Amino acid sequence: MRRITMVCLGALVASAILALAVAGLSQSQSEQEARQWKIHDRSRPHPPVITAGECSTQDHVGSPPSDATILFDGKDLSQWAAADGGPAKWTLGDGYFATVPGTGYLHTRQAFGDCQLHVEWATPNPPHGEDQDRGNSGVFLQGLYEVQVLDSYNNVTYADGQAAAIYGQYPPLVNACRPPGEWQTYDIIFHGPRFDSAGKLLRPATITVIQNGVLVQDHVMILGPTEHGQRPPYKPTPERLPLALQDHNHPVRYRNIWIRELPAKD
Ligand code: MG
Repeated sequence: MRRITMVCLGALVASAILALAVAGLSQSQSEQEARQWKIHDRSRPHPPVITAGECSTQDHVGSPPSDATILFDGKDLSQWAAADGGPAKWTLGDGYFATVPGTGYLHTRQAFGDCQLHVEWATPNPPHGEDQDRGNSGVFLQGLYEVQVLDSYNNVTYADGQAAAIYGQYPPLVNACRPPGEWQTYDIIFHGPRFDSAGKLLRPATITVIQNGVLVQDHVMILGPTEHGQRPPYKPTPERLPLALQDHNHPVRYRNIWIRELPAKD
């Protein structure tokens, strides 16, 4: 009996130590910072004051928050380049730009790391094709990790390839797509991967996506760069890389694109 009690006590102590170790390991930098301050400490610094933007409607383009970097405000493609670094070859319309099939991906001239990204897009109306061959494009965080853009309104394809999927990895939580031709929004929170000096992965990338005001990807851990038909492992990459939009041979439209870089969390 005594031996059993000792074994149980030993197991309890071991579990407690393990729980404490896990708690310690899981305590993030932001938690540690929060605990440094007394509750309601009036000497704690306040966050910067910004002016919030306005949401778009179908007929009215919204505005970005005052601290955002504007990547497209309806006027020009100066923030974007073709794959060879030359001028963007996609067409500029009245307040939007559109994929020109066969001209290749667009890349931002600036590189970005952890970020909040707002993108609005509309697939062709009337729709053409089916499955993956219908209003296909994509938002590539760091040019590597695709949030799928597709006409997924009454158009079935594989789940991890429909609109708002992390392509080849995670289907969206729900299909919140609007009909073709209507403007849709993605609000994306991206934290990039981290590597040590030897190139070993320390932390995978994570992505959260809100589509048309609906949570569709909830802080998912990215398995590696996007490829069609395969899931290659991570390769070490810089903390900042250009964002890309996919040319998948369909004239998908984009408008009102802005980005806010986020403080790095390690
Ligand atoms: Mg795509």
